[in-house]
Amino acid sequence: MQIATQIVLEWPVFAAYEVAPSTDNDDLEELRRWGVKTKLPSEWSKVIRARGGQLGTPRRVLDIHPTLYRQFAQLPYEPQAYLKFARTFGTLSHHPQRLVEWALFHSMIRQLLGLGLGREPLCVKPWRTWFCMTGCFENPEDVARIGGPDAFEWKLNASLELNELLDGGLGPQVKTTEDGRPLLALNLRDLRTGIALQALRSLTAPAAGLETRQCAQCGTYFEIGPGTGRRSTSKFCSPRCQGAYRYARQKLLKDDTG
Ligand SMILES: [Zn+2]
Repeated sequence: MQIATQIVLEWPVFAAYEVAPSTDNDDLEELRRWGVKTKLPSEWSKVIRARGGQLGTPRRVLDIHPTLYRQFAQLPYEPQAYLKFARTFGTLSHHPQRLVEWALFHSMIRQLLGLGLGREPLCVKPWRTWFCMTGCFENPEDVARIGGPDAFEWKLNASLELNELLDGGLGPQVKTTEDGRPLLALNLRDLRTGIALQALRSLTAPAAGLETRQCAQCGTYFEIGPGTGRRSTSKFCSPRCQGAYRYARQKLLKDDTG
């Protein structure tokens, strides 16, 4: 069974971002509670956060940038690269993430796309172990029973991390399309979930016969293929853009001859 689905993410992009020390160290205590030893270099322990008290502008970053997942995957593992990314597209989640978490998510997307780990910083590995453990076990005692984190064979398995991320991150809701048909909308929790789904989509879309194209009039990306209501020859995102394009061309021809 398949249902027409719309993925929605209105993500706040703020005027300024900065790298700053983390004010919340609950995660480090959690790691310790699970028995994971980590030597976190100070540059990777900091967070990226919005600066000042302004309000972010909500932007549909996934629609404006349908290849955002690829841009993200191809970044170097560098704090400055993540900061630059945040300045354009916002942070990965509402709660400020440590740079080691940016790198952890980065390597997950790389693995998902079959790009390999690349030059992942060493400090990421214990975080992945922890991430996978909390996805597999209810509490630290379960891990202790199998011999602690060292005995826990962490798999280089992006799907495990992906499932953990998607769990609770989708916000399903029934909506109505402009022409009155019901539609399943998924309101994504954060940019991380959005990038992960975009990467997943890129892997599954060819099999589903879907393709992304850019509108010849307004530059918006749109989908063609089964269930999209557009022909495979469509050059425009909407009848409105098709009309505007035709009108502009006719005017140009008339100006040329007249
Ligand atoms: Zn258009």
